[in-house]
Parts: sequence; structure tokens; C-alpha cells
Amino acid sequence: MKEIELKIRIYGDKCLRKKSAPVKMVGSEEKALLERMAEIMYSNAGIGLAAPQVGINKQIIILDVGQGLFKLINPKVKEKKGFASIEEGCLSLPGVSVKVKRAKEVFVEGIDEFNKKVAFWADDLFSIALQHEIDHLKGKLIIDYANFLKKIKIKRALKTKCREAGEWESVQTKKLI
Ligand SMILES: [Zn+2]
Repeated sequence: MKEIELKIRIYGDKCLRKKSAPVKMVGSEEKALLERMAEIMYSNAGIGLAAPQVGINKQIIILDVGQGLFKLINPKVKEKKGFASIEEGCLSLPGVSVKVKRAKEVFVEGIDEFNKKVAFWADDLFSIALQHEIDHLKGKLIIDYANFLKKIKIKRALKTKCREAGEWESVQTKKLI
């Protein structure tokens, strides 16, 4: 297996804006990736993580909203019900939160790590986290839901955060609006 350095990609990184490819078959490489993603998510106190957030543009997400680790491959939202919105954060946008209007309940299809088809309704935080992670697979980020003024504020916050983290260059050259 290829040795790839997996770390959280921060806003400005191209991986976060690419559309991720579906996985044809979950094999040892994907399983190893899922394991590594879980380590990264838990060590960063996240409740969800999508593969592009660690630089891999494959349709793979993991979640843990307090009910244990949940892994999903090639997830698709098939149906939506109602509306819900909370202040969402993102490991790829340190220090940023955006109130995002989403569906309250979603019916999602995909496959599990054993290549078995799964289909289920999700609601509340699980539903919101799923929609957030599925957005990542399309190259969409919470900042895209913010209005003009909020985007300016976010840009300012990210400059400070990313300068501290040594990511100043990539953020500075990125057009936010
Ligand atoms: Zn995110």
C-alpha cells in the first residue's frame, strides 16, 4: 500500500474543493484509510470526517455523534424531510462556525466497509453531520453557506488561525468570495 501522509487539510487546500470519486470496491487500502481517519477524527475531537479532509478524494466518510463509530462509503442523500440548522464547525476551517440550513431528516444510501448496501433514515445531529460530510465529497464547505459579511469575518478568523499553523500562504492567496 502506498504510504501517504494523512493529516487534516485546512481551507485553501485543493483537495477540499475537488469532487471525490466513488469507491468501486472497499479493499484493504480503504479499510486502512478508514482506520486512520478514525484516529484523526478522535484525536481532533471531531464528530465526523470525510476522506478529502485528509487529502484523499474518495467517497468515504466516518461519523461518531455519540453512538459509536459509523463508516459509510459512496453515500447519497435520496430523500429529505423538514429543516434544521445549527452552528456547524469543521476540522478544515479552524475557529469557524456557520449556521447552515439543512434537512432535518435524510434517507441515505451507500455501502459499508464490507461492501454491503446500506439504506437508512437519519435525523437530528446524525442527519446534519451526514449532510455536512456528504458536502465534503462534493467539494462543498460550510463557508459556502455564509453570507457576504460572514465570509469576510471568516476570512479574518482563518488568517489568524492559519498563520499560527503555518498555513498562511495558501489561505492568503485563496479568493474567498
Ligand atoms: Zn467539515
